[in-house]
Amino acid sequence: MQREATVLMLEERTYDFRAVERGWQERWERDGIYVARDDDPRPKYYVLEMLPYPSGDLHVGHAKNYTLGDAIARMHRMRGHNVVHPMGWDAFGLPAENAAIQRGIDPETWTRENIGNMRRQVRLIGTSYDWTRELASCDPSYYRWNQWFFIRLFENGLAYKREAPVNWCPVDRTVLANEQVENGRCWRCGAAVERRNLAQWFFKITDYVERLLAGLDRLDGWPDRIKAMQRNWIGKSEGVTFAFEVENVDASIEVFTTRVDTVFGATFVAVAPEHPVVAKILERMPKSRNRVETFAASLANTSELERTQLMQKTGVPTGAYAINPLSREKIPIWVTNYVLAEYGTGAVMGVPAHDERDFDFAKKHALPIAQVITTPDGSLRAPLTEAFVDDGKLIASGEYIGMKSPNARRAIAARLEAMGRGKTTVQYRIRDWLVSRQRYWGTPIPIVYCERDGTVPVPDDQLPVLLPKDVAFTGQGSPLANDAAFMQATCPRCGGPATRDPDTMDTFVDSSWYFVRYLDAHNAAAPFDRAKASAWMPVDQYIGGAEHAVLHLLYARFFNMFTVDQGWLDADGEPFTRLFNQGTLLYNGEKMSKSRGNVVGIDHTVERYGVDAMRLFLLKAAPPEDTLDWTDEGIIGRVRFVQRVWRAAEPLTRDARSAPFDRLPEMRGDAQRALVRALHVALASGASETETHRFHYNVTTAKLDELVNLLGALLREPDAERDPAVLYVVHALPIVLAPFAPHLADELWSRMGYERSVHLERWIDADSAALAVDEITLVVQVNGKVRARIHAAPGIAEDDAFALAVREPTVSAQIDGKQIRKRIFVADKLLNIVAA
Ligand SMILES: [Zn+2]
Ligand SMILES: [Zn+2]
Repeated sequence: MQREATVLMLEERTYDFRAVERGWQERWERDGIYVARDDDPRPKYYVLEMLPYPSGDLHVGHAKNYTLGDAIARMHRMRGHNVVHPMGWDAFGLPAENAAIQRGIDPETWTRENIGNMRRQVRLIGTSYDWTRELASCDPSYYRWNQWFFIRLFENGLAYKREAPVNWCPVDRTVLANEQVENGRCWRCGAAVERRNLAQWFFKITDYVERLLAGLDRLDGWPDRIKAMQRNWIGKSEGVTFAFEVENVDASIEVFTTRVDTVFGATFVAVAPEHPVVAKILERMPKSRNRVETFAASLANTSELERTQLMQKTGVPTGAYAINPLSREKIPIWVTNYVLAEYGTGAVMGVPAHDERDFDFAKKHALPIAQVITTPDGSLRAPLTEAFVDDGKLIASGEYIGMKSPNARRAIAARLEAMGRGKTTVQYRIRDWLVSRQRYWGTPIPIVYCERDGTVPVPDDQLPVLLPKDVAFTGQGSPLANDAAFMQATCPRCGGPATRDPDTMDTFVDSSWYFVRYLDAHNAAAPFDRAKASAWMPVDQYIGGAEHAVLHLLYARFFNMFTVDQGWLDADGEPFTRLFNQGTLLYNGEKMSKSRGNVVGIDHTVERYGVDAMRLFLLKAAPPEDTLDWTDEGIIGRVRFVQRVWRAAEPLTRDARSAPFDRLPEMRGDAQRALVRALHVALASGASETETHRFHYNVTTAKLDELVNLLGALLREPDAERDPAVLYVVHALPIVLAPFAPHLADELWSRMGYERSVHLERWIDADSAALAVDEITLVVQVNGKVRARIHAAPGIAEDDAFALAVREPTVSAQIDGKQIRKRIFVADKLLNIVAA
């Protein structure tokens, strides 16, 4: 409380940020200064923050994301680019529907209210969005094009329907999203969730898998970590697919392995309970039936994630044996929980000696562990205490003994191929994109089913298939399937009766192409005009959280490749040239969340401290990729900075304009040279952080602090208000502040008599002559230990050097409360302070 009172006192005396900030936001809006024009001849720059979900109230963590994007957009605008910086809303999704079920609020009402509030807050933080391009994915004028894309994918064989498991609540008789399943139970009624098969739509992203991989190699502007996550998700592996015969059963089991060099070490075969061989085996081995079926039933309600990653690996023997095609050994066939029918062949060979998972499984079920690979020097010998998973030298492997792993893989693959038992294959972990959702608040799937014609897409001139209003949200069944009027349709082919698809699309479809729609947001005849979109694409800088590293970014890349393939966009297949992941925001070291009650809201912050102070703090407190800790001390420090700028510059605004900044001013002494230099250091920093895409504006804003400190110091000298260097710096100050503190910058600029907003001005190129003004680095020691390095003009006097040195926190911390016994000064080199 004490601290906030100080802040309020300060501002009453000087700068009324509330009135100034509100005034400028209204004027920017009225003048449309951030509207990007298609016919602007300057080079284009497309900066984009990921489409936000309108969840309600924003907090300062959101402001961190938008402030960085805004500073980047403003820097590029001032550096001569035609910048497009749009904003919109990822407006479909489950929370709106849950609100409808729980509180009876119409999803559309809930969503539009949230959008209204978020738009207000996003504007409140002084962002430079081009609002003429705003879109919401729940607008029929937007989602009709989702339907259009769906039909184009269908026509190209890239949308297809097949059965896939869903989460089913037997009480509510409804499909549940993964988020609605809590510990295996329905979020609403608590019933145990079942797995059911349902015919659903898929997009065939697997057709693009090699291009999605190859594209990553060219994306130099993406974080390596994100590219690695995408590669891992795609999960390409090269290996061998080959078959084991089953003893006494007319069947064989195909397996895929990347380590065929370990084939002589296979001691069991693991299959998914759903594998077709299981039924054949059980016909021959009726005694196993009870055991196997009980085990399979125990897995019916578990998710893939649980089975492959969370659950203990377990299983039961089927009683049947597989025959190793090379060693002719008989090995038992087990049904296990960790092999999935959906993935690969639904069976794997178990090699406990050389695979960690197989090792654990073998230990648990007392299966043999047969070592067939040893270290290159041959020293590693059974019994193994853990799986040896590296390549090495083959042992106990028939004619392949002594071969190295890579050679053995080639030789064994060739042998299996010659035997007609196997072939070299490539496998991917990624599967097709399941897009059907059994929900209401999404894009209706534009398909009807006719008894005569089967699956028929809705013709383009009948789009959009509108979401019906006044739907009952009982939480039971599917809202669209329950709506008889919606479900009833006429077949576009034969004119006979038809039924609509009752599902809506995954909301990731909405965010897979919105960045192109922004470029022609009001087109009613097409999703976008080819020429308009091609002129702006690709997105030059995409900004968002790493939580979208896999799905959103893969889907958007897939959509964009398809769009380019179809000739709708004349561009590279990759939609995002550069990607930047922001670090998160903490509050006094803790994650901000409603449940902790420590959410710092935007309205409160802006009202109390001001927009510019908030922006400066969010930019200055940490590099943008790092975690930022929101502290009251930090934001108050920025309030003081804003006031300091105002007190220093405002009284000189009338005279400053007479000091042109297209040439360096007269510099009467070292202090003036240091001041002008500090300005150009800040200008150079802003430019370089932008051009290198590092965006460490924390450095640039720290340079602004140094600049304003020097300015304040000089202003205490007599006649400073007539000093050409001072006036020059004050004149340039709004320019260098503009991307970071846009309101303060425009207020100072207009007080200099300019009619046009400072945000339409050019950034000043750092002057090499100003930067080259001599500067020395003085090493500061305390009691012989280096504590700081300070920059100063050459020939600086000992007393001045000492005054500078004690301003360094690392120095003052060492001498506070102590007596200075002695100073050792070596001109332009060293200052050693002896304190005790
Ligand atoms: Zn339920
Ligand atoms: Zn028909």
